[in-house]
Amino acid sequence: MLTHAIRFSAHGGPEVLRWEALELPDPGPGEIRIRHHAIGVNFIDTYHRTGLYPVSLPSGLGQEGAGVVEAVGPGVTEFRPGDRVVYCGGSLSPVGAYSEVRNFPAERAVRLPDDISFETAAAVMLKGLTAQFLVRRTHRVQPGDTVLIHAAAGGVGLLLVQWAKRLGATVIATAGNDEKAELVRAHGADHVIVYTRENFTERTRALTNGRGVDVVYDSVGRATFLGSLDSLRPLGLMVSFGNASGKVEPFDIGLLAQKGSLFLTRPTLFTYIAEREDLLAMAEELFTALRDGWLDVQIGQRFPLSQATEAHRALESRRTTGATLLLP
Ligand code: NDP
Repeated sequence: MLTHAIRFSAHGGPEVLRWEALELPDPGPGEIRIRHHAIGVNFIDTYHRTGLYPVSLPSGLGQEGAGVVEAVGPGVTEFRPGDRVVYCGGSLSPVGAYSEVRNFPAERAVRLPDDISFETAAAVMLKGLTAQFLVRRTHRVQPGDTVLIHAAAGGVGLLLVQWAKRLGATVIATAGNDEKAELVRAHGADHVIVYTRENFTERTRALTNGRGVDVVYDSVGRATFLGSLDSLRPLGLMVSFGNASGKVEPFDIGLLAQKGSLFLTRPTLFTYIAEREDLLAMAEELFTALRDGWLDVQIGQRFPLSQATEAHRALESRRTTGATLLLP
C-alpha cells in the first residue's frame, strides 16, 4: 500500500527533510501495520537528521507514534486490526514514526487504553518513560532530595519536574526565558533559574546554602556539563542524558575526584525498556500517572506531518515548550 513519510538522504539541517510517497510492503512476521493518528517529535530526531547519532541513508525519521493497527503479519497474536497502540523507538528504515502508515514489531508496541487520546499518548510515551526511568531507576528520588533539572520547560523537562515533585524532591529548574520559567513554576518547580542570563551554578549553590544538589538531570550537554558538575554536593550524581547544545567534550575523569568524588551516568531510555516486561510495566505506571491526574502533558505545538521541517526549526531554535506533535 502507499504511504507518505518524511525521509532524508543526506545529513544536515531541517531542509534535508523531504515529504515522499512510497510503497509499503505487507507486515512481515511479528509485525503490525499501524496507521498513525499522532506522532511525537523528539530531540533525538534532530540527532538522527544531523548525523550526531549516525543512521544509514536514505532514512526515515521519528521514534514515537500512536495509532490504530490496520493489519498484522504472520505469528502476531497479541494485536488485531482495530486495536489502539502506542510505541517509542524502532527502526528508521524504510520509514520511522514520521509517516502516515508503517510496519512495526508487535513486541515493541503497547496497547493504548481507551481513556488516553492518541495525542496525549504520542506526546508522553518516549518523554514520559524517560522522566520515569530518570527519577525511579537511574536515581530513586526520595523525599528530602534536592535535584537540578535543566531545560525544564521542554518535553521531557516538564514531565521530569512533575515526577520529581511527586516523589518528594525539592526541584531547582532552569529555563531559557521568563515565559518558560513561569510554565515550569506552574508545574511545581520550587526555584527556577533563567540560565541564559543567570549563572545557574552560583544560584544553585546559594539556594542550597553552599552544599550543592544531590542529583543533576542534564539534557543540555556541552553548554552546561561542567557547571552541572559544580552544582553537585560531594558524592552527588550527574545524570547526563542529552546533547541539546551539542555533545559533551571529552574530559579527564580526575575532575570527578576533584569536584568531590562525584558519580556520573550517561543513560538512554532504550536500555531501560529493552525487555518487554519492563516496557509494559513502565507504560502501565505512566498510564496510571495520567489517570490519577497528577501528570500534566503539555502539548505546546502541533504541525502537519508534511511540515516536519518547521517542527525541527522550532525545536532547535528553542521556540517550543512541552511536547511537539506531528499530525498526519
Ligand atoms: P526539549 O523540548 O527539551 O527541547 C530541548 C530544549 O533544550 C530546548 O527547548 C531548550 O530549552 C534547551 N536547550 C538548551 N540549549 C539548547 C541549544 N543550544 N539548542 C537547542 N535547545 C537547547 O526536547 P526533548 O524533550 O525532546 O528532549 C530533551 C532532552 O532530553 C534532549 O537533550 C534529548 O536528547 C534528551 N533525551 C534523552 C533521552 C535518553 O534516553 N537519554 C530520552 C529522551 C530525551 P531552554 O530554552 O529552556 O534552554
